[in-house]
Amino acid sequence: MLPWFSTIKRQLEQRASQSSLHHALLFSGAAGIGKHVFANSVATSLLCKSLGDQGACGECQSCELITAGSHPDFHIIESEKQIGVDSIRNAIQKLSGTAQLGHNKVLIVVAADTMTEAAANALLKTLEEPTANTYLILLTESLNRLLPTILSRCEKIKLPTPSHSESMAWLTTQGHSSVDDEQLSAYGSAPFKVKAALEEGEGLTFSDFSEKMSELTSQQTDALTLANKWQSDAQHVVSWCQQLAHKNYVASQTKNSFTQYQACTEAQKHLLHPGVNKTLVLVTVLKLFS
Ligand SMILES: [Zn+2]
Repeated sequence: MLPWFSTIKRQLEQRASQSSLHHALLFSGAAGIGKHVFANSVATSLLCKSLGDQGACGECQSCELITAGSHPDFHIIESEKQIGVDSIRNAIQKLSGTAQLGHNKVLIVVAADTMTEAAANALLKTLEEPTANTYLILLTESLNRLLPTILSRCEKIKLPTPSHSESMAWLTTQGHSSVDDEQLSAYGSAPFKVKAALEEGEGLTFSDFSEKMSELTSQQTDALTLANKWQSDAQHVVSWCQQLAHKNYVASQTKNSFTQYQACTEAQKHLLHPGVNKTLVLVTVLKLFS
């Protein structure tokens, strides 16, 4: 379990035991803090047939089926791009009957803000008239991208971003013990993003970036070489450059660091345009750091 969510989890479990938990929960929080993992663990508690003070028992039929990934009353909707009306209708259909295990039913909607309007409206009916013993858990990084009608029918729970020490302790349990403050900040203090970056093994990592930037400053490499190399990671590179500029500015308050910062803001805007020449955008920014 993720320690930074443990208080919230305990509160939700207590309310579930007292049958006073809202049937529609909306978890919001930054990317990469573990919202989905948390939602899964809350769902496990809601489905467990002998939920106790320590959470789900881990031994009942329900807990075993969840571990096996085949619980008939547990459904998840997630999509790479957009959640369409068909996925929502499908899930609602599955939730409409009585629970196959005779207990609760849970549906998690990951990135609920990507629902099309039709999908959101289909879900709305279930939010208004839920079937018995059914819990809906919606996840989002940004509340203001959801329809007000959805927002008003859910209990909104803000999930906290973990502190650096909590993130580092957790990353150590995941086998990554050498993460420092700077690396964490580079990934928006989001431990799951750091873990993914360390484990992906491809793409640019923050430590590679830092190393090459020192080479750039000491003229061992040049802006164009790096810009060509980093094209496919352009967005990461620009946001890391911006953090570097911010750090430089805090340290020295030079005009140059302010110019660097502004150039990064501009570059981020340019990168949003499809078909933009990424090398050119990167060269403009990187030259200011050489
Ligand atoms: Zn159980």
